Amino acid sequence: MVTDARMRFYRCLGGCRKRIVTGFFQFVLAALLPLLMFPTAMAAGYDYQLSPQKIATDTYVLQGSQQHFRINNGGNIQNVAFVVTGAGVIVWDTGPSMLYGEQFRAAIATVTDQPIAKVFISHHHPDHVFGNQAFAGDIEIYALPATNKAFHQEADGLSQNLYRLVGNAMSGTEPVPPTGRAEAGSFSLGGHEFVLHALSGHTAGDLSLQDVTTGVIFAGDLVFNGRAATTPHADIGQWMQSLDYLDALEFDLLVPGHGSVDDGRKAIFDTRDYLSWLVATLQQRAREGADMAEVLTVKRPARFQALSEGKNEFQRSVAHLFPRYEEALFESGAATTTHD
Ligand SMILES: [Zn+2]
Repeated sequence: MVTDARMRFYRCLGGCRKRIVTGFFQFVLAALLPLLMFPTAMAAGYDYQLSPQKIATDTYVLQGSQQHFRINNGGNIQNVAFVVTGAGVIVWDTGPSMLYGEQFRAAIATVTDQPIAKVFISHHHPDHVFGNQAFAGDIEIYALPATNKAFHQEADGLSQNLYRLVGNAMSGTEPVPPTGRAEAGSFSLGGHEFVLHALSGHTAGDLSLQDVTTGVIFAGDLVFNGRAATTPHADIGQWMQSLDYLDALEFDLLVPGHGSVDDGRKAIFDTRDYLSWLVATLQQRAREGADMAEVLTVKRPARFQALSEGKNEFQRSVAHLFPRYEEALFESGAATTTHD
């Protein structure tokens, strides 16, 4: 059908406006077909089908898909959570879009009548922060200063990219920055004792929230479970230090940024294992003088083959990390030459 339309279009370029118009509408229809195949992705009707899962006393998680951003997941690839204290609800991350944020609030309202007391944002990546719009107003949205800074620098570009990747589920979404400044330290609310941990490595600002009362820690994207880690803003050395820091804390349940809740240390171990391999591999290939095309063909060890988005994330990581390691090698080589 598209081919016919295209032929008519070209044949008629000399005149024949009517046929051009017909061909144009056939093109438009073909472009809309993917959306028609995923009706839930249509405009304001996008339904994320959110269903809070209770993981501990007062504590609920909404787990996203393990995929990358796609039309058919509406950008819902992350975990968000909330804690119903005796004095209001603590919200952990707001999701990828205004519609997600609105449906997240509606999902919270199915569990409790309590108002939302505070929102905390783990880091500035779009899947965790673009639901802010649905919470902004009289609710304070807290993030680390480094997260606020990165948001102001990058939110517009990240938003445009997400519109391109997930389409109409983003309808009406505008980047709304965090309003409050999160700092490391403890606070209590409604019978729960919380500790905020100011970390970094996945991005320049990675907040973790520990509920000492329930033994749950919300780790954000410092921890991935069953999915290859994303590294576009990563400092892997700092990230590994943050993983060691989390590992040393007392907790019973860990809510990762992506993947299932962990009742032990396996998700921390696995994230560290993957990042260690990634760094070691890229550094070794840089030392061997490999070019990027060769590095992209590196076979991932069997233990990483089952990770969701493993191949895609490895290729993305090579694209933005490998040049850094090549440069570091060049600079250290240049320094050696100078001293020699
Ligand atoms: Zn994420």
